[in-house]
Amino acid sequence: MNEQTLAIHAGYDKDSMGTMAVPIYQTTAYEFKDTEHAANLFELKELGNIYTRLMNPTTDIFEKRFAALEHGVAAIGTASGMAAIFYAIANVAEAGDNIIVAKQVYGGTTTLTGHTIKRFGIETRYFDITNPSEIEALIDEKTKIILFESITNPSVDVADFDAIVAIAKKHNVMTCVDNTVATPIFCKPIDFGCDIVVHSASKYTTGQGLALGGVVVERENLVELIKDNPRYSHFNEPDESYHGLVYSDLPLPLFCLRMRLSLLRDLGATPSPFNSWLYIQGLETLPLRMKQHALSALKIAEFLESHPKVKKVNYPGLKSNVNYTLAQKYFPKGQSGLLSFEVSSKEEAQAIADSTEIFKVVVNIGDSKSIITHPASTTHQQLSEKELIEAGVPGGLIRLSVGLEDTQNLIDDLSKALN
Ligand code: PLP
Repeated sequence: MNEQTLAIHAGYDKDSMGTMAVPIYQTTAYEFKDTEHAANLFELKELGNIYTRLMNPTTDIFEKRFAALEHGVAAIGTASGMAAIFYAIANVAEAGDNIIVAKQVYGGTTTLTGHTIKRFGIETRYFDITNPSEIEALIDEKTKIILFESITNPSVDVADFDAIVAIAKKHNVMTCVDNTVATPIFCKPIDFGCDIVVHSASKYTTGQGLALGGVVVERENLVELIKDNPRYSHFNEPDESYHGLVYSDLPLPLFCLRMRLSLLRDLGATPSPFNSWLYIQGLETLPLRMKQHALSALKIAEFLESHPKVKKVNYPGLKSNVNYTLAQKYFPKGQSGLLSFEVSSKEEAQAIADSTEIFKVVVNIGDSKSIITHPASTTHQQLSEKELIEAGVPGGLIRLSVGLEDTQNLIDDLSKALN
């Protein structure tokens, strides 16, 4: 089925009441038939609902729908995009291990990988997304995952999946792609050989800035990479916290299963059923919205490129952009609504952001309402000067998340602010 149909129907037909709209199962717990049924569920002899920290029927529909859209086999909904990224890392890495992460990622991912998980004993090694050949020298036997964004926020670079996946496959290392900006409408990293996809559902998924959320998607047959692979021994050895369960022996999506049984159980960053319902509402219109976001962003990028005050425009849909060829290869249907541009100084960038009327000064992306952000003083404020340059965030950089308003109105707004 085409993604426009999947976005509306995947994961849900009707419930026992025949409801056309997906119901919100607003509950913490579930009544078991009897104690034997309860015991069977806990022992995984039967699959079913136990407690909403682990699973919920509304969240389950969201997970199935998202997995279908990403061409994955299973998904786990989380309370935020950061929770999804942390869980993807924590599902494979422990103290003494290392992970490899692109330098050009969302600021929260940089602080998570560069600071927070360091305190858990996990080392992060960084590579330049524009030069994936750097990855190979960083891999050793303790490397657990290679994490990068398909379209980077806010430098708007494009990942070369083929180059990264080739190195990962050579060394039997898992790849994890943050596909928040491209969305599954423009790119499905699993189709290019990636293993795990993560998202902040707070962005284009809900689409109107309504709720925080995240999701982790697993590709089919991940067991091929994990089974007997010494990098992933904890999937191949008994899990003492779950009666000696060996995940790689189960005929189930093992990455998601371990994340659910272990990380959701113990850390609990689960979405509320109501938020899962909001993500589902968002998914229904995602294909249509993404087309408009991308059309408008391209026109705005072309306008900015011709403006004398603008030094550089980062939008991979522009023919002049260094990422144009890669974008045509991996995102031929559109390059999302995120773009950034550079003016001569931090002060000028802040003055422009303060002068727009339709574009609001907000730290979010993927909203129907257009957003203007000065990353160096906000989303990336905690980064050092060196990290800012490496992340492609100079002081004069302005990020735009182009919304769904009339394109000409948006161009007029920017034109006024730039003069
Ligand atoms: N990934 C990307 C690319 C993001 O832009 C963001 C937030 O801006 C996140 C992850 C984190 O998502 P959340 O805010 O839902 O935790």
